[in-house]
Amino acid sequence: MRQIEHFIVGGADGVSRHSEVYDPNNGVVQAQVALGDAALLDRAVDAALAAQGAWAATNPQRRARVMFRFKELVEAHMDELAHLLSSEHGKVIADSKGDLQRGLEVIEFCCGIPHVLKGEYTGGAGPGIDVYSMRQPLGIGAGITPFNFPAMIPMWMFGPAIAAGNAFILKPSERDPSVPVQLCELMQEAGLPEGILQCVHGDKEMVDAILDHPAISGVSFVGSSDIAHYVYSRGVAAGKRVQAMGGAKNHAIVMPDADLDQVVNDLSGAAFGSAGERCMALPVVVPVGADTANRIRERLIPAIASLRVGLSTDEEAHYGPVVNAAHKARVEGWIQKGVDEGAELVVDGRGFSLQGHEQGFFIGPSLFDHVTPNMESYREEIFGPVLQMVRAESFEEALALPSKHQYGNGVAIFTRNGHAAREFAARVNVGMVGINVPIPVPVAYHSFGGWKRSAFGDTNQHGMEGVKFWTKVKTITARWPDGSADGGNAFVIPTMG
Ligand code: NAD
Repeated sequence: MRQIEHFIVGGADGVSRHSEVYDPNNGVVQAQVALGDAALLDRAVDAALAAQGAWAATNPQRRARVMFRFKELVEAHMDELAHLLSSEHGKVIADSKGDLQRGLEVIEFCCGIPHVLKGEYTGGAGPGIDVYSMRQPLGIGAGITPFNFPAMIPMWMFGPAIAAGNAFILKPSERDPSVPVQLCELMQEAGLPEGILQCVHGDKEMVDAILDHPAISGVSFVGSSDIAHYVYSRGVAAGKRVQAMGGAKNHAIVMPDADLDQVVNDLSGAAFGSAGERCMALPVVVPVGADTANRIRERLIPAIASLRVGLSTDEEAHYGPVVNAAHKARVEGWIQKGVDEGAELVVDGRGFSLQGHEQGFFIGPSLFDHVTPNMESYREEIFGPVLQMVRAESFEEALALPSKHQYGNGVAIFTRNGHAAREFAARVNVGMVGINVPIPVPVAYHSFGGWKRSAFGDTNQHGMEGVKFWTKVKTITARWPDGSADGGNAFVIPTMG
């Protein structure tokens, strides 16, 4: 059986606990990943402490060069990394390449770190006084990441942290841990000194050890909301800087004037792509007016019927299996809950089976109509290939739905009316907005982050927000009086003795 080990300085011997990594296409265990503890973390932190000072003192253009070489290495290994990622996660190869590519875009941004780290300067803030500020690394940062983007989200975090001069300890999801380890190996191959990027595997025990470790100054988390809140609270109580991104329930508002062919096409990808396991998926559609709802429903039914669910290696497949058996059972449980609550199950994806792969974790696409805001299946995140239609009678009613929802990650509006789009973007109580764009994930040089229970802490991922999170500002007020002017202000170089 393949063993997936920690990537720490000196290696990791004598680890006893393991977790199983599945191939979701077949439902078989394909590897075991080691689960670390506080003692293992101590070793990683010691190595990070030993290396971080020299890395922070390395000039930023040299740090940028490592980022550049890393980007080239990932590109050179793109195919094998994408296949490995798909084999543990279940997403199709094209989605795995997208996962890697979106991460690389953050690395590209980090290649500009010398420019980004330039501080501010005020000459002559007083007589002979200049004030300037600089951004310095926190020291040691840690990242705790979810299963659904095992390449992109680690890169969101370690890219800016390392480029800014920090050492970084990554704790990836134990469900698909292989690609995160390979990314660490490629960073080292790119010239990163030993100890600056390490990877420890684990579950709650390791997460708690990270949150409690006094030498770790910043923690970035992405995962489900209850755990995000826990990580945020415990990390902040320990005096750390913490950003913790949580779950989502993103809505697509469809105005009567929208191009419905585009909407249905976009919804097919955004609701069902990657089996709905995206925090920026669109699992809720809100048509405005009964006529809009009926026209969308009419088009969605054949569009859903044409979706191909297949192996993650099937180039024709729109999406593959979900990550494991427990998640499959959970999603199917939510479908049953929706039925029990009185929503109309128009297309039922349960019971789907792929011939020859009956043990794989596949779920067919499902469509609900007449979902209402009081239903638990609407209020909670399903994170599977399930689209729920909530009918609204007016723009104001549609605007209120995502605004009042407990999650506020992303939202989209489809319309040809610029004024409606503008009003919506300004007033909706959600962090990331798409206008005729189904998955409004901001480009790497802007920043990513939701509102309400989708994010705890106030700094976003990547872009300038990411750099700010991983650095602290030092402000220097300097006075250089003219030594020749008068005796009282004379500048004298102190001498010994
Ligand atoms: P998860 O919360 O189960 O796991 C995330 C991380 O927390 C993993 O590294 C895991 O090992 C660790 N963890 C699990 N249980 C823990 C516990 N009890 N105590 C401490 N740590 C624990 O999330 P997941 O299932 O891997 O990922 C899916 C979730 O992530 C969804 O809710 C999705 O919306 C969310 N997500 C959010 C964003 C965002 O940017 N807002 C992005 C991607 C995914």
